[in-house]
Amino acid sequence: MVNKSSRKSLISINDFLNLTQGTISRLLNLMKNTVDEMTEITQATPPDICPRCGSTGTVTVISKTIGGVVRYYFKCSSCNYQWPVQ
Ligand SMILES: [Zn+2]
Repeated sequence: MVNKSSRKSLISINDFLNLTQGTISRLLNLMKNTVDEMTEITQATPPDICPRCGSTGTVTVISKTIGGVVRYYFKCSSCNYQWPVQ
């Protein structure tokens, strides 16, 4: 079962109908670029060594949703140091 309440429309139907073809094209390109960027970020490889405490094998990738935007961070499980994925 799909929980429809968890899905949000980016724009309303009326706004969509009012868009010009050029705007639609730009919007689609923007969405495509966003997907490509997110795919690239989620495949980021965490460093072997934590830059703060020097522990090895403790750094993982985590995600935070801030204001509806998903951001990715590296996190060290040894010292809890977090820093954004570049
Ligand atoms: Zn650390």
